[in-house]
Amino acid sequence: MVIGVLALQGDFIEHEKKLRECGAEVFEIRQRCDIERDFDGLVLPGGESTVIGKLLHELDLFESLRNKIIAGMPVLATCAGMILLAKRIENDNKVHFGTMKMTVRRNAYGRQLGSFRTQSEMKGVGNIPMTFIRAPYISETNGAEILAEVDGKAVAAREGNQIALAFHPELDECNMVYDYFLKSI
Ligand code: GLN
Repeated sequence: MVIGVLALQGDFIEHEKKLRECGAEVFEIRQRCDIERDFDGLVLPGGESTVIGKLLHELDLFESLRNKIIAGMPVLATCAGMILLAKRIENDNKVHFGTMKMTVRRNAYGRQLGSFRTQSEMKGVGNIPMTFIRAPYISETNGAEILAEVDGKAVAAREGNQIALAFHPELDECNMVYDYFLKSI
């Protein structure tokens, strides 16, 4: 199984390590020629969604990656990655890929509660640690299925080939989310 990890900004290296631990072959997507090869899945890491969104356009990756997602390429998107997939961002008038029918709220936990860890049940995965860093949450879904909630807020969702998480599985010991993603391919 070959997974492309978007490596423009953010914590892509941690995702690569996890994916390798789970048996996947991994390569980094940094420029247009990187996506000319065949691959089975895509990871959109956390970071800063505005920066990643801008770089996707500048590096001429945006349209090709969006088309791949629409055509059914399995995607695991975390935090900023989740914002990239959302059809609507409640507190920002930008839309990036906009391929997932949900509304997210950026930096939704405010400054003080900006980063925290907890443990919760994720449907199809189990009880897992969840690390939130200036995270969004999903304020509304309109087609995407909610897979996990923390304090009444949706923090994970799936719509067909797209899995989006508000938290950072790449920062915890547990590999269950990666096994779930790889099995879904
Ligand atoms: N706050 C970031 C954003 O709005 C997301 C944070 C993260 O990816 N850890 O894009």
